Amino acid sequence: MKYLLIIIAVLFFTCLIFDKLAKTSKYQLFGQYFTKIKTQEPVVALTYDDGPNPPYTEQLIDVLNQLGVKATFFTIGQNIEAHTQTIQKLIANEHEIGNHSYSHQKLIWKTPAFVRSEIERTDELLQNLGVQQEILFRAPYGYKRFTLPYILNQMQKKNILWSVDPKDYKEANPEVIASHVISNVTPGAIILLHDGGEPGATVAATEIIVRKLQTQGYKFQTVSQMLNQC
Ligand SMILES: [Zn+2]
Repeated sequence: MKYLLIIIAVLFFTCLIFDKLAKTSKYQLFGQYFTKIKTQEPVVALTYDDGPNPPYTEQLIDVLNQLGVKATFFTIGQNIEAHTQTIQKLIANEHEIGNHSYSHQKLIWKTPAFVRSEIERTDELLQNLGVQQEILFRAPYGYKRFTLPYILNQMQKKNILWSVDPKDYKEANPEVIASHVISNVTPGAIILLHDGGEPGATVAATEIIVRKLQTQGYKFQTVSQMLNQC
């Protein structure tokens, strides 16, 4: 009885630790995933999740254009269907468009068929709108566990996570968002921001981040451009 309790306790804590690891951005069971890119060059990637979402995505396109910067937008299938014109603007302005699932559910405790369909439906939508390059994926909420990495590995799809997360979705002050990013970037950093939801301060924060990091010598690239260098 005593040994049984010890075995149960060990199993419980092992599961707990593994579960914790699987939910962080720092670990994935199999397949290719990136939280940042290994490089000594002063390059970073801005990424925006949960769009397309007018008018914020358009505002970002305008600001990024003024700054001469290309970014990566991880888009949700349902939003692509609702805002086709915004995706077309992103394509026309040569930003990279990634896949952030079809319906933005946590892809854990889901069947392999469901997980695969969440990825394939969004890829298909983007391809039908003219996206030709390899479409990178980002797990909703960064949650991975077992099934998603298994399916991504089967599909030979890269999971792009992040190394800098200023939690812009709950911060109203653009200076606070920007100073978190500026003090945490390193060469090859992937910066997580959002154009989905109500990103009131993200557009203004983007301008501060880009101007400040450019004075420090940083260049901005899409995630694919950074991946091609490593
Ligand atoms: Zn998301």
